[in-house]
Amino acid sequence: MSVAPVRPTCEFPFPTGHPLVRTARFRCPHGCDWYRDESTDLGPSGVTAVTGQEPGARVAAFWARVNGAIEEHVAEAHPEAGQPEQ
Ligand SMILES: [Zn+2]
Repeated sequence: MSVAPVRPTCEFPFPTGHPLVRTARFRCPHGCDWYRDESTDLGPSGVTAVTGQEPGARVAAFWARVNGAIEEHVAEAHPEAGQPEQ
């Protein structure tokens, strides 16, 4: 059984030239104040972790971290909400 990768939308809150420019911010799917910042700096391929142009173990690990953090937050803060709506 294969599961299509879930890739939540993200923002890049830091401007060009900022040391954290490659940090992606993922907000709570239920609209609360929570968010998760995750560096997309995977080496030379950089933000392809987010744009998804280069599949690979590091990209998969990136999304596993992001989705794990979001699931954990939803389970703790929105236990009645279940799966986020698409
Ligand atoms: Zn939330």
